Amino acid sequence: MAQRLIVIGGDAAGMAAASQARRRRDRGDLEIVAFERGHFTSYSACGIPYWISGLVPERDQLIARDPETFREKFDIDVRLRHEVTAIDLDRREVLARDLDGGGEVRERFDTLMYATGAVPKKPGWADTAAGGVFGMQTLDDGAALRDWLDSEPRPRRAVVIGGGYIGVEMAEALIQRGLAVTLVEQAEQPMATVDPDMAELVTDAMRGIGVTIRTGLGVTGLEETDGRVSAVVTAEGPIPADVVVLGLGVRPNTALAEAAGLPLGTTGGIRVDRRMRVQGVPDVWAAGDCVETVHRVTGLPVHVPLGTHANKQGRVAGINIGGGYATFAGVIGTAVTKVCELEVGRTGLREKDAAAAGFEFVSVIAESTNRAGYYPGARTMTVKLIAEKPSGRLLGAQIVGWSEAAKRIDTLAVALWNGMTVDDMTALDLGYAPPYAPVWDPVLIAARKAVDALAAVGR
Ligand SMILES: Cc1cc2nc3c(=O)[nH]c(=O)nc-3n(C[C@H](O)[C@H](O)[C@H](O)COP(=O)(O)OP(=O)(O)OC[C@H]3O[C@@H](n4cnc5c(N)ncnc54)[C@H](O)[C@@H]3O)c2cc1C
Repeated sequence: MAQRLIVIGGDAAGMAAASQARRRRDRGDLEIVAFERGHFTSYSACGIPYWISGLVPERDQLIARDPETFREKFDIDVRLRHEVTAIDLDRREVLARDLDGGGEVRERFDTLMYATGAVPKKPGWADTAAGGVFGMQTLDDGAALRDWLDSEPRPRRAVVIGGGYIGVEMAEALIQRGLAVTLVEQAEQPMATVDPDMAELVTDAMRGIGVTIRTGLGVTGLEETDGRVSAVVTAEGPIPADVVVLGLGVRPNTALAEAAGLPLGTTGGIRVDRRMRVQGVPDVWAAGDCVETVHRVTGLPVHVPLGTHANKQGRVAGINIGGGYATFAGVIGTAVTKVCELEVGRTGLREKDAAAAGFEFVSVIAESTNRAGYYPGARTMTVKLIAEKPSGRLLGAQIVGWSEAAKRIDTLAVALWNGMTVDDMTALDLGYAPPYAPVWDPVLIAARKAVDALAAVGR
């Protein structure tokens, strides 16, 4: 009799695992059933802001593989609009509710893949039945926001609460749709994933595209009129709003896991080993935004909910479930985003992370250009490096610049991943031609500056 794999969550991590397992084991050997409570499988949540803005015209362009493709090409039984409500580890069963048809199904498993993602953080004051308030995590969330924006009366004023990268991307998208947008952030700067001096450049760019930014301001409530949100309440008074997007971060979606007794780590994510096995629970695997992983620089557990990790971790789990061998090596926190044309990249530790982890370090900021100064389109690029004292090992890097900035962070991520020092980095053989870089690439200029800074403090 074929063994049975049940997958909970039909997006990046879940379906990457299911398809990898299928590549290694055919239907006669492994039956695969995937439960997804939403309307879509394998969609790009990362693309939602660009669909909201209209840059990507069709919703279905965000869908990499639909359920029919999984059924026909991968022989995976996808059950959309089915929410798993309980896991019984002793009986090896899951219980799922059919959200459209009603009723419940009980399904047996030999192997369980837990990939439920994350849930947007929602403080008590955001718990409202009023229309027009949206968290942003799944394509269904994006679809609900788009419907609201397209329906009458047309929203004109948007408030985005929280200035992480999702808040920043959503603010830009709403500006591009012609709304008046206010971004409210409790901290002194939006974009807390980079140091404040670099975040300032992002704030300037956001103001430049017309976003009103209110920092150092906590939200305490929402007002509603006739069942629709009408204002965001703050200590400095209400901010009128026809639509509110919550960008307060996410937490691992572990309610089911917790109820079933799966182990959670200090970050709240499920504890897994390098092969993505749930620690101490045989034949149960987990991947994506619902798990915690290890930061390769500090060695500490972290929850870094990014699609890049979800896809890799799902693939690792699927290879292992299929009988192969693969491991996930941890993360260094590389991420990129943009505000219109301003690109932002980061990897490794910020100054405050390095200090908290007990590192002695220097940090430098180097300003140069993306192309040779005389070449048309040359614009400023700012690179920040954080290097350990006295070794010179790169601990963290951030880049903000107008073009060709974001993906330059990858060079720094590779250097950091491999434990390079800033001294080593000054000799890197990076490409040069006037349309692509000055003769000294911004990365090399920053590395030289970091070497000088280390020398100045006697290393
Ligand atoms: C607006 C936005 C922009 C982003 N941009 C980027 C980016 O540029 N780069 C990047 O790396 N990452 C980005 N991300 C993050 C990335 O989308 C997530 O890290 C990734 O989708 C996580 O994949 P996952 O499979 O773990 O979880 P999810 O994609 O959240 O999938 C989990 C699925 O499980 C389903 N589910 C949950 N509970 C149940 C249940 N009980 N029963 C059945 N189904 C269930 C959910 O409906 C969901 O479809 C972005 C996210 C958002 C929201």
